[in-house]
Amino acid sequence: MRDLHQQIRQVLADAATVAVIAHVRPDGDAIGSVLGLGTLLTEAGKQVQFILPDGASALYKHMAHYDRIQTRLQEPVDVVVVLDCSDLLRTGDVLNGRKVDINIDHHPTNELFADINLVEVEAAATSQIITLCAQHWGLGLSKTAAEPLMAGILTDTIGFRTSNTTADTLRAAALLMEQGVDMSGLYYNTLLKRSYQSVKLWGRGLEHLQKDGRLAWTVLDEDDRQASRYSGKDDAELTALLATIKGVDVIVVFVAQDDNHVKVSWRATNGVDVSNLAVSFNGGGHAPASGATVEGTLDEVIERVLGETKKLLQERRKQD
Ligand code: 5GP
Ligand code: MN
Repeated sequence: MRDLHQQIRQVLADAATVAVIAHVRPDGDAIGSVLGLGTLLTEAGKQVQFILPDGASALYKHMAHYDRIQTRLQEPVDVVVVLDCSDLLRTGDVLNGRKVDINIDHHPTNELFADINLVEVEAAATSQIITLCAQHWGLGLSKTAAEPLMAGILTDTIGFRTSNTTADTLRAAALLMEQGVDMSGLYYNTLLKRSYQSVKLWGRGLEHLQKDGRLAWTVLDEDDRQASRYSGKDDAELTALLATIKGVDVIVVFVAQDDNHVKVSWRATNGVDVSNLAVSFNGGGHAPASGATVEGTLDEVIERVLGETKKLLQERRKQD
């Protein structure tokens, strides 16, 4: 590990220009990692490209360097760092064949696609890895970088609630608070505050909620988005709400994207691992939280995904 950090330190030290890239449909950890590491590198005198293939939610617009987020890579660039991506598909089409120098991630499904792969599966967030390792890479923390990094940790752990929240997670949060971050303010803004439209969308999702044994699922389609005037094509974090249902081990949320693509999100508790299931649908993630974008009509995808998810739960029951 020490050797890996030294390699990263050297590669960054030798670079004048660095691109930091995270995944399509970015969550708080993707945005926090790009803004956080990008800010640290900027403060170390590097010319930085902040890249998110789908841009970033306006929730983060008050953060430093938000305005510098681009959706494309501009060559030439000395070093490419990919953050919070388990495979290269997650970078959309920004790389265009360009090799990745450094891969920093916490997904167990990571495909180790870079020259230097720092994949810490026990870390609760990529932002946590950056926070705790920055000093090994010759980068000092700052308040401007601490804010997005804290947002990344808060959102990936749903406010320190996920089972992968460890003493290291809290140590990282403590380091960031010492930089002067307003943790409770960020907690409210990134996790609790919701638009009226997103709560209306929840209403539609809750209306469609179904349950079969220890599996519960729901569906959101274009009609639901229009009825609630919700502009995104995500689940507005309905997954986090459904994951709290008692007596359920797996929840699945299906969000129609277009006539032939459906975003599928799995959340699991009680030790059920849905990551391999997501990989089998060309997605990925963590044991308790995974996702995939699946080709097919909404009905087809629901049938296939529920079929496979029920099989997983049946196999598990056999083992118990
Ligand atoms: P969500 O369901 O909220 O989109 O994502 C849950 C977890 O699964 C996150 O860790 C996310 O990075 C991962 N994930 C979601 N969609 C995909 C996907 O299409 N491919 C991969 N590799 N991971 C995904
Ligand atoms: Mn993450």
